[in-house]
Amino acid sequence: MARPLADPRLGGQRGRRPVRPPAGFSYIDAHTHLHPAWLSKAIRRWFAEHSDWKLTYPTEPERVVAILKEHGVERFVYFSYAHKPGIAREINRWLWETAKRLPDGIPLGTVHAADADPGGIAEEALSTYGFRGLKLHIQVQRFHPDDPRLLPVYERLVRLDRVLVIHVGNLIGAPGAGEYARFERFVRVLDRFPELRASICHMGAPGTTECFELLAKYPGLYLDTTMAMSEAGLRSLGCAPVPATNELLIRWQDRILFGSDFPNIPYDYEEERRWAWERDLPLEVCRKIFNANARRFLGLDREGVE
Ligand SMILES: [Zn+2]
Repeated sequence: MARPLADPRLGGQRGRRPVRPPAGFSYIDAHTHLHPAWLSKAIRRWFAEHSDWKLTYPTEPERVVAILKEHGVERFVYFSYAHKPGIAREINRWLWETAKRLPDGIPLGTVHAADADPGGIAEEALSTYGFRGLKLHIQVQRFHPDDPRLLPVYERLVRLDRVLVIHVGNLIGAPGAGEYARFERFVRVLDRFPELRASICHMGAPGTTECFELLAKYPGLYLDTTMAMSEAGLRSLGCAPVPATNELLIRWQDRILFGSDFPNIPYDYEEERRWAWERDLPLEVCRKIFNANARRFLGLDREGVE
């Protein structure tokens, strides 16, 4: 078992709170991955060749879900990504077909800026398939968030009241990725679409400070905790192992979503949640981060989905 977080800057007072959640505590994991088998294999191969991550969790949807359920996960958001143009429709169709077998899963669609008709693909994903939003992985997809070809995509998200989950920031990844992943280019999107409800993956690590500052200006913006709150996660991302302080978590308690990147994490799933129970956080704050905020972000309660 990894040692507990001990950085005094965390502001936690371990020992005063239980290191386990109360019985029956229910999680919503807002960031997991399910891919078509051919893509899962390619992604695992990429990590084997380009990183020292040892990925051992299964990737088959039913096996992934079984493990999440064992960990008390009530519902989970999952997505894939089109790393090149021309495959988004196929992936979205797979996500939709897969969703029929996974009643607790919440799929988000994918689109590539260089697709022939990004707006049409977004329309199909959001209207025909009824996805609650889209995921963009700028670093892998390699286009700018404010690429004008994406304007019809953002317009549809706003018009249909759906969410955007976006991975921006200079994390590990494809060579040259930083060129596409600068926050400024996403801020332009937020300025143009102030109603857009969006979540930045990994709290924008290593740009976490800048991302927390964005929350004050953009009321529809959220941050997900994926790999950004544990020492194991931050080290795997190549970031300094200094997660957000309790002060920040409490100040922005309504705008933080729990996510994990499961099953593509090179450590135990519990590492993605244990930090919360080792800190002196009010239980109400944990309930928001691990459940209520995702409900509001995704509109689960508003549409009567349970
Ligand atoms: Zn991810």
